[in-house]
Parts: sequence; structure tokens; C-alpha cells
Amino acid sequence: MTCTHTHTATHLGDRPVVIDVAGLNKWYDQFHVLKDVNLQVKEREIVVVCGPSGSGKSTLIRTMNRLEEHQEGTITVDGTVLTNDVKHIEQIRREVGMVFQQFNLFPHMTILENVISGPVHVRNMPRKQAEEIAYNYLERVGIGAQAHKFPGQLSGGQQQRVAIARALAMQPKIMLFDEPTSALDPEMIKEVLDVMRELAEQGMTMICVTHEMGFAREVADTMVFMDHGQIVEYAPVKEFFTNPREERSRVFLEQIL
Ligand code: ADP
Ligand code: MG
Repeated sequence: MTCTHTHTATHLGDRPVVIDVAGLNKWYDQFHVLKDVNLQVKEREIVVVCGPSGSGKSTLIRTMNRLEEHQEGTITVDGTVLTNDVKHIEQIRREVGMVFQQFNLFPHMTILENVISGPVHVRNMPRKQAEEIAYNYLERVGIGAQAHKFPGQLSGGQQQRVAIARALAMQPKIMLFDEPTSALDPEMIKEVLDVMRELAEQGMTMICVTHEMGFAREVADTMVFMDHGQIVEYAPVKEFFTNPREERSRVFLEQIL
């Protein structure tokens, strides 16, 4: 069962496609979690994915860098087709940074160690060079002064900004965010969204799973609404907010706006 309809940002012209998800199906045992998902993401495009809890948003973006395996369809990231070949998986993971709801920092390492661990251990970068890059990104997310603290000594918002710096230190071409502000107290949400907004302005290609609709309206190019493992609505951001076509997205927006 393959759906040939491709969701692609025609409103962004002929920019190159950097992520191409085609005919994607995934099951957890008997449970069909992703159903015929087709989605293209273009260079510098900001895609916001929303939808009810359990609709498959996390599974979709986790599948894109092989944190989850898929059974049907193809995922192509910057020209590399994601297969079981470890070389392909590593290649794709080098290009894709990911930020999770729960920060996932190493608690026993300092902030600096957290940020340099990828470049040093995965990329074999000399420590000194990795530190320079780390300080640079920590400055950019406003955490430069905290480099020698441990994650537990920072607020949730600060930890999440460190997690973003850690992902950026690997110099990815694409960033995936999975509800990066959902675990944060309200006063810390803005500081994380501001960092994401800046990243978008600097031209990063991003897929953000988030229910922060203010952020989505301002920053997104394209909105994806998922329900029951399917893309139910795909639209340029203005269209999505002013005139959602699907009843389910309409109801969802009414509930959260
Ligand atoms: P969302 O991020 O939209 O809340 P998820 O992708 O986390 O949704 O989950 C989609 C569905 O898949 C849910 O019904 C969830 O319970 C189920 N699911 C998620 N992860 C697993 C797993 N590892 N094994 C079995 N079912 C899972
Ligand atoms: Mg989720």
C-alpha cells in the first residue's frame, strides 16, 4: 500500500530537497504506527509537526535518523538512502542533530564535556579544536559562563540550550526537535524558542515537533498535522492557521490556541 502523493513545499520554489520520506510505513509489532507518510523537506525549510499525543510524531522524526527502524518506504537524507548499512546510518547521523524533550545530557559530565563529547569521540576532533567550537556554540545559546558546571546545576531551560549547543557542535545540516519545550516551566520556554528562532534565521533546515503555535506561526514555513500515524494536513503556515482544511486540525487548533 503506497500513497504516491508527496507533500512538498511548492511555496518555497525549487530549493533542493534535503529530506525525502516516501511511502513510509512502520509497525511496532502489530501496531501500525506510521501509515504511508510522504514528506519532503527542502533546504532551509522550517517544518513544524503537531498533532495529538500518540499520533506518531516522535516515531516519525526518530525514524529519520534510525533511532527507530521502518519496515516500508524510503528515507533519503541529503542524498543518502537510509538502509541497514551502518555506513549509511552513520553518514545520516552526522548530518542530523536531534534535541529531545528530556535534554538527555550526561549528568556526570560538565557542560563543556557534554558538548565536546561528540566531536572528540565520534568525529575524532582534537580536543582543543572541539573546545573552541563548544565555547562558540555555548556562547551562541547564552551558556558560555556555565561551561564548567554540571547539568544538575542548571535550570531546565539552560540544560535544553546546552543540548542544542551539543547537537550544533557536530555541525549538522539538519536539526530535529522533539517537543523541546514540553518539559520546561513556562518562564524558560521562551529562552529555548529564541535559540531555535535564531537558528532558523541563520538558515538551518529544521523539523520541530512542538505545540508552541506562536513559535510555529512566526518561524515555520510549513505545517504538518498528524493523527493516527498519518499526515492529515500539510500546508504553508499562513494557510494552516487561517484556513485549515481538515476538521481534525481545526478541532486540534481550537483546543490548543
Ligand atoms: P507522539 O510523539 O505523537 O505522541 P509516538 O510516536 O510517541 O507519538 O507514538 C505513537 C504511537 O506508537 C503511540 O500509540 C505509542 O504508544 C506507540 N509507541 C511509541 N513507541 C513505541 C514502542 N517503542 N513500542 C510500541 N509502541 C510504541
Ligand atoms: Mg512524542
